[in-house]
Amino acid sequence: MSAPHPDSWTEPGFDAFPDDWVPPDDWAPDDEFAPPPDESTAVGEASAPRRHLTGADPLSVLAEVYGYDAFRGDQAEIVAHVVAGGDAVVLMPTGGGKSVTYQVPALVREGTGLVVSPLIALMHDQVDALIANGVRAAYLNSTQTPDERRLTEQMFVAGELDLLYVAPERLNLPATKALLQRGRLSVIAIDEAHCVSQWGHDFRPDYLQLGALADDFPGVPRMALTATATRATHREIAERLRLPDARHFVASFDRPNIQYRIEPKVDPRRQLLAFIRSQPEGAAGIVYALSRKSVEQTADYLRGQGIDALPYHAGLPAPVRASHQSRFLRDDGIVMVATIAFGMGIDKPDVRFVAHIDLPKSVEGYYQETGRAGRDGEPSVAWMAYGLGDVVQQRRMIDQSEGDLAHKRRMQQHLDAMLALCETVACRRQNLLGYFGQESGACGNCDTCLTPPETFDGLVPAQKLLSTIVRLQRERGQAFGAGHLIDILRGADTERIRRMGHAQLATYGIGQDLSDADWRSVVRQLLARGILVAQGEYGTLALGDDASGVLRGETPVPLRRDTIGRVTVSRTRKPAASADVADGDRELFEALRAWRAETAREQGVPAYIVFGDATLRALAEQRPSRPGELEGITGIGAKKREAYGDAVLEVIAAH
Ligand code: ADP
Ligand code: ZN
Repeated sequence: MSAPHPDSWTEPGFDAFPDDWVPPDDWAPDDEFAPPPDESTAVGEASAPRRHLTGADPLSVLAEVYGYDAFRGDQAEIVAHVVAGGDAVVLMPTGGGKSVTYQVPALVREGTGLVVSPLIALMHDQVDALIANGVRAAYLNSTQTPDERRLTEQMFVAGELDLLYVAPERLNLPATKALLQRGRLSVIAIDEAHCVSQWGHDFRPDYLQLGALADDFPGVPRMALTATATRATHREIAERLRLPDARHFVASFDRPNIQYRIEPKVDPRRQLLAFIRSQPEGAAGIVYALSRKSVEQTADYLRGQGIDALPYHAGLPAPVRASHQSRFLRDDGIVMVATIAFGMGIDKPDVRFVAHIDLPKSVEGYYQETGRAGRDGEPSVAWMAYGLGDVVQQRRMIDQSEGDLAHKRRMQQHLDAMLALCETVACRRQNLLGYFGQESGACGNCDTCLTPPETFDGLVPAQKLLSTIVRLQRERGQAFGAGHLIDILRGADTERIRRMGHAQLATYGIGQDLSDADWRSVVRQLLARGILVAQGEYGTLALGDDASGVLRGETPVPLRRDTIGRVTVSRTRKPAASADVADGDRELFEALRAWRAETAREQGVPAYIVFGDATLRALAEQRPSRPGELEGITGIGAKKREAYGDAVLEVIAAH
């Protein structure tokens, strides 16, 4: 997107609109993250009418269409509630299985299910997957030719679509509203419903108008679905989408297969490289950075180190973005280095790690971004390097942002919660879930659980630092950033110290017991707790609200001792661990994988659209030899049995 943007430091992607940002007239949001051309399946090849599903038992639809033998978690209850005509607010983590909860009611109820979806990539993925399962799904968006759009519209009016995907901007057009009145809706599902929240981080103005659907389609059950779960967002969704009587379904937000790790930033690139090299070869991952420049530099660096890394940010030409995204989805082991413009709507289930080399602006953002790892439930890692520079930079960005006071305060609260997560000496998962209002015990699968951090009494160092700041202020009317203050405390002999005569200060050299890195860690933690504040363009340090108690010695200051080991980088990545497949089945599993790759290539779809790993594993274990034996295998519904059954049986027989 080339639209001018008031905050030069934010990526003008969907995730970053400040509240006061007004899109230019020619803004076509659904052009932005269009998938590569070869992926843009038009309307599903109109298969035979599936009206026999109307009125069918949801469980049998689940088995026949998706090849799943049971609903998971709250799915059955949600489906039953909506099929009976009730409204629902569904909060479920990424990978929890939200799609089924509106798709099954859409198939079972009379009419077409309308799905409001914020991004083209998301629609394309969902529609591809539905068509592969034999469902008559289609979307309306700007990647289509007028003829394709017309065909979709005709099919909708004729009642020949089970599901129709539309972006909110298009839905709000009078022409679209008129079209929808000419057909019959079975259910309305508003996906990524947190986009309605101004409190959250993905605000999309057009979501605000979706409340009108209540009047436009009385009697049609409406659902709002999201993977964001703060109470404030939750409340806003129900209010703004006008769902006062909806039943709320709140799943646990824990993602037990994701291991959370946050380490102090020393040499971020080498730390990142060491981390990636510690991951299995062929593992796909996403590295998030804040600026376009840092994205490009990091991708270059990783490529120079032999990692298959690609850059992605909104400043790259659309065809380049599309081709990088397509390679990430299809090829094995691509590391995508990206701004937050990348990710929403990426349904790739086997992303093995998400790394942050800059601090996210909120816990919601962090949770969403890390949540893109391990949708398939296999072990995955969320890794982050975070340092003093991040805190100073973000405080400054908030200071200088153009929003009003309330907006700044909100951003400040977001940052404080994020910093608390980074600095906690307790379980990361506990902190994260606590933020979403969910209680849990220590998880045993995060860095602080696995290697509990040491703490030390930081009162005296904090007092030394604070009194240096106070003296400079009172005696000389001066303020400085962390670097110079640490030089004073450590008794350094720099040009600046000589020029300013700072060797004469009473606190000069009183902090030699701590290293430079230790002092930076102290400053970072004091900033995170509001004992210090960073001000102005240069991030000069001043006393925060909580400083006086520390100076008086009344407020204890337990600090986390950073374990900054030397970063050792191995030369190669670990060999691939052929996930959970038993030794005896591995060869067949690999043969099936090769067949899947070949088939996916022929059909121009990502491999996971053909079959997921869980299905290949079940095939390798159970070794069906007749078509009938394919029936109980997870992920193989009627359509896929017909499309791939013979080929799969051949691969197994040949083995
Ligand atoms: P979400 O939209 O909540 O992120 P999805 O709807 O994409 O999650 O589902 C996540 C994964 O779980 C998908 O691979 C999906 O096929 C699988 N899945 C969902 N429901 C079931 C079920 N009842 N049984 C087996 N697999 C399921
Ligand atoms: Zn833990």
